[in-house]
Amino acid sequence: MRIFETQTYIIMKLLHQLIFVLFISVFIFSCESKQEGNKLVTTSENNSAKPKKVKNIIFLIGDGMGLSQVSASQFYNDKTSNFERFSVIGLSKTSSSSDLITDSAAGATALASGVKSYNGAIGVTPDTLAVETIIEQISPKGISTGVISTSAITHATPACFYAHVKSRRMEEDIARFLVNSEVDFFAGGGLKFFNDRKDGNDLLKLLEENNFEIQTEELPKKTSKKKQAILLSDKGMPTMIEGRGDFLPEATQLALDYLSKNEEGFFLMVEGSQIDWGGHANDADYLITELLDFDKTLGVALDFAKQDGETLVIVTADHETGGFTLASDDGDYNKIKAIFSTDGHSATMVPVFAEGPGSEIFGGIYENTSIYDKIKSFFIE
Ligand code: MG
Ligand code: ZN
Repeated sequence: MRIFETQTYIIMKLLHQLIFVLFISVFIFSCESKQEGNKLVTTSENNSAKPKKVKNIIFLIGDGMGLSQVSASQFYNDKTSNFERFSVIGLSKTSSSSDLITDSAAGATALASGVKSYNGAIGVTPDTLAVETIIEQISPKGISTGVISTSAITHATPACFYAHVKSRRMEEDIARFLVNSEVDFFAGGGLKFFNDRKDGNDLLKLLEENNFEIQTEELPKKTSKKKQAILLSDKGMPTMIEGRGDFLPEATQLALDYLSKNEEGFFLMVEGSQIDWGGHANDADYLITELLDFDKTLGVALDFAKQDGETLVIVTADHETGGFTLASDDGDYNKIKAIFSTDGHSATMVPVFAEGPGSEIFGGIYENTSIYDKIKSFFIE
């Protein structure tokens, strides 16, 4: 018993000494690394595994863009597709609260506000209560925001980022929301919902009173510091086949030049609206030309982000349109044909692409509302 107690005492003492030596070593080591840190601050920061801050987010939505649409960029593009520049890929489940197959309104309400609502809903819950959009949540923090679309700017997808109405068809009401919104830069079609309205009101005048600089003729090369309202057609913008040209990539570049002047950061939503319209029309040339325009626009976003280093680029769709596939219809596997299975939307999951700081959280399979949650997490703790 006595021997046992002595041994225990010796072991305890050794342990104490060991702990003391460890403590001293850690202390000395931390002093050394602190000194090193003082001398070589940038090196130690560069070596650290800490992810870079997300200051800006560019969120691009290809309306109706499923995986076959994205695959078209591989087969019908003479350049390497910009989709291939993304390192993180996920899949989004798109059903709405009312239907297994969503429409663009419910789809964008989920992406902009994180709520599953009914088909046709613009920024409202299934009970038609207004639900805050990401733009409404981050603007009071001093973050600049922009919305660009190749449809009318009052169309379902862009509308969900700033408006709250019970039906997507209420485009004149949606226009009024935009006039009074926190959006700093917008570009697209839809002029008639501002200056040729059933209520006779001139919303362009109201935009001017709200400190907007207005363009209705063409995309300017440069902007002033004023808020920017760019409305270049009565309803949707012309199609690529009709000669829309580089409106989407150029408006995106213009928005990036404008929004990046804000040191607090920005959020920009860019929609390739007519990928969906090509799908509805079961018109492969229409769909593919719109898709390639969107692909080119991704290049603008990715080039900006690469240079900037604090910009996260996210690309997704609200749903797939057309039940579109690239297949052989005569057994010749060396020929592909664009085949559609519906003139409406489909229930297939849609891809999510992410690149830049924070992109790693976009891998996996999740609900469309989760994309909103992830975006919000970078701006609001
Ligand atoms: Mg749309
Ligand atoms: Zn559609």
